[in-house]
Amino acid sequence: MTPAGPSAWDAPRPASPAGGLEDESSPARISGGTRWHPAMRTALAEAVRVAELGDVPIGAVVLDPSGVVIARAGNEREHTGDPTAHAEIVALRQAAAAARRQDGWRLEECTLVVTLEPCTMCAGAIVNARIARLVFGAFDPKAGAVSSLRDVVRDPRLNHRVEVTSGVLAGESADLLRDFFAAHR
Ligand SMILES: [Zn+2]
Repeated sequence: MTPAGPSAWDAPRPASPAGGLEDESSPARISGGTRWHPAMRTALAEAVRVAELGDVPIGAVVLDPSGVVIARAGNEREHTGDPTAHAEIVALRQAAAAARRQDGWRLEECTLVVTLEPCTMCAGAIVNARIARLVFGAFDPKAGAVSSLRDVVRDPRLNHRVEVTSGVLAGESADLLRDFFAAHR
């Protein structure tokens, strides 16, 4: 298959990290230390899984308030033919189903961890889900809606704002995307 649309990951790694390919070597853009690494590694595993199915490798997990993974998903856009089946949307749907089966905590207290900065659609879904915290890996300079193009989740005009941690294992996330697009060129 051919991934739809051009991607920032189609380009070779720039000499400077200023192009949105931040990783552990650019501490100015890193927050949160290693706290989120285990969850991000689960999200990265989801990204690898869906790449093997032909989808652009992006993965997401949702953690309950005690840090337990209640949803894990990859981008399924190509596999399902559903343009809204981004990893975050699929994970939020799983988490909402899990939350309905539980009491004692709410989706509003959960953390969403995703390998790539969410797009406008997903950032909007995160706000609508009232997710407490968003953790993402690589920045997406072409479509990111949490820092790069706009900031949906911290817009003071909206009635819910999300705490954001960015740049977690960003180099690994960017490498997966770069390798995928190189292989599918
Ligand atoms: Zn998205």
